[in-house]
Amino acid sequence: MLLGESCDAIQALVNSIFQDATRQVVIITIPFNCFWSSLCCVGKGCKRRYHPSCLDPPLDDVAYGDWHCCFCVKKKIELGVYSVSEGVDSVWDAREVEVRDTRGSQKQKQYFVGYKGLSHVHNHWVPESQLILEAPLLVSKFNGNNQIMKWKEQWRTPHRLLKKRLLRFPERQDDYHNDYTGDISDCCCEWLVKWCGLDYENSTWELESAAFLKSPQAQSLIRKYENRRQRAKRAASFSQLDKKKGPLVKIPKPPAGVVPLMNSFQLSFINKLREYWHKGRNAVVIGDQVM
Ligand SMILES: [Zn+2]
Ligand SMILES: [Zn+2]
Repeated sequence: MLLGESCDAIQALVNSIFQDATRQVVIITIPFNCFWSSLCCVGKGCKRRYHPSCLDPPLDDVAYGDWHCCFCVKKKIELGVYSVSEGVDSVWDAREVEVRDTRGSQKQKQYFVGYKGLSHVHNHWVPESQLILEAPLLVSKFNGNNQIMKWKEQWRTPHRLLKKRLLRFPERQDDYHNDYTGDISDCCCEWLVKWCGLDYENSTWELESAAFLKSPQAQSLIRKYENRRQRAKRAASFSQLDKKKGPLVKIPKPPAGVVPLMNSFQLSFINKLREYWHKGRNAVVIGDQVM
């Protein structure tokens, strides 16, 4: 029996155990933080909930923005991003274009629309005849000039990449907790993208195969992200080293073999340089300054 509110990862594990009739006694250890705040999938009709630490692979914190579970991400890859959206939630612009069909060339009114749970990079033009069926209230609201906020092109330009997550896809829901045995081609990544002109709360998870992530600007953001990660790793390894090294003791006189010092300031510089070395930081002495 599970007490409290556990997430879908734990429920899938419990279901798979109880389907196995050969087991007599079942002891389930639930991660302590499985009862902490969870991520709720915004995928169409999904509502699965997971704690960041129960995901495979785990996320190290609760991230910003709308989030899709691995089942919805799989659907997104197979059927396109619009398959996981609840539908059109905003209308930003309108235009009239010439379209050609079997009856020849004729004018068609189109609306530039946004989708629930998707970033503005996925906005696109849809014919009026289609939108009137999908979202009649949004059409009349837009045509009634009640639109206060105006569309900004920069909303579809990535500003910063906040996080990268590796995706693993189970064959069936029950397989979620089985050991992953597929090859690397079954894996794919998603980036958490912060968009220009929008808050961090509007950041979205985007497949790394998305066309906009192939641009030179996006590639440079990916390099910046990797550099930040490398720097953070180096800083973490230095702080680990510090713990092992213990506190630094100042030396009272120059080490043996060093040419005699001119004055006591030079000894203080040596101690200052040792202090920087101990912290894993670079430093040089210029004049009477350690930089
Ligand atoms: Zn959990
Ligand atoms: Zn989902």
